[in-house]
Amino acid sequence: MKRILLLTTGGTIASRPTGEGLAPGLDGAALSRCLGALTDSYDLTVQDILHLDSSNIQPEEWRLIARHVFDAREEFDGVVVSHGTDTMAYTASMLSYMVRNIPIPVVLTGAQLPIEHPLTDGLDNLRTAFAMAASGRPGVFLAFDRRVMLGCRAVKTHTTAFGAFDSVNWPLVGRVDGAGLSIRRDAVPPLDGPCRLRDKLCEAVFLIKLTPGLDPEIFDMLLRMHYRGVVIEAFGAGGLHFIRRNLIEKLHAAAQAGMAVVVCSQCLYESSNFALYQAGQKALAQGVIQGYDMTTEAAVTKLMWALGQTDRLDEVREIFSQSLCGERSV
Ligand code: ASP
Repeated sequence: MKRILLLTTGGTIASRPTGEGLAPGLDGAALSRCLGALTDSYDLTVQDILHLDSSNIQPEEWRLIARHVFDAREEFDGVVVSHGTDTMAYTASMLSYMVRNIPIPVVLTGAQLPIEHPLTDGLDNLRTAFAMAASGRPGVFLAFDRRVMLGCRAVKTHTTAFGAFDSVNWPLVGRVDGAGLSIRRDAVPPLDGPCRLRDKLCEAVFLIKLTPGLDPEIFDMLLRMHYRGVVIEAFGAGGLHFIRRNLIEKLHAAAQAGMAVVVCSQCLYESSNFALYQAGQKALAQGVIQGYDMTTEAAVTKLMWALGQTDRLDEVREIFSQSLCGERSV
């Protein structure tokens, strides 16, 4: 039997109704009592490490989860992390960088309905996650609604539907149907070196979703607040306004101040290309880094992680020119 470690962190899957709405109330032992026959097929170890709504999962918790995942890589065949759905895509992306080249499958999952609810999707999601964790395919994945996706390509797209996540700009890694779990091998990036825990990151990264007429002085404020990196979700394939309210000159000031600026699209699907329009080329001329087809979650966490590895902007640019774990198409 495959040795699987289940790390529980809270989320709806482990929640119970309270006077203030749903809140994580089940610890790992209580959660595992709900699993029934599901545990018979695996040599399962359950460790509860957090009891949080994932809105409260922040860089400190990412490091804690990464440490547990990293420490499990020799003793277990796979790890499942149960986690709230709201920020699961961020955690999945950040883990992909922090434990890059992990030699076992690491699978995040959760639920839209608590595991104790009679209609819960949690059991199904755990079933898929356990199967993926036992698959021998290394990497960080997210399993939901009988589908498995690359962690750094997952985005939460629905608030209540059981199919809450999409794999953006990347094929599904796996699917469960009458044939069992089928894995698409070419959707799993190969390992390219030994696994090291690299959990240093810079929290001073801001995300701007551009709106028509956004006041460029936002950049002055970010510099005053000592932000070191900004991800801009720009318009369409890549455009920012520069008439009347000139964002381009602020990009220049940001670059002078040593701030790393990553630009991507606010469109969910397909790639940005800032070389296409004048309004994008003006930004490129200021040295912004293109995020291309990365999800916002993958871009923000990659910038936090990259700025944790180096202070040098040319090295941040070099990190962004690579796909570390399948997060961007090269
Ligand atoms: N608010 C919950 C959380 O992210 C939602 C969920 O788990 O589905 O923890």
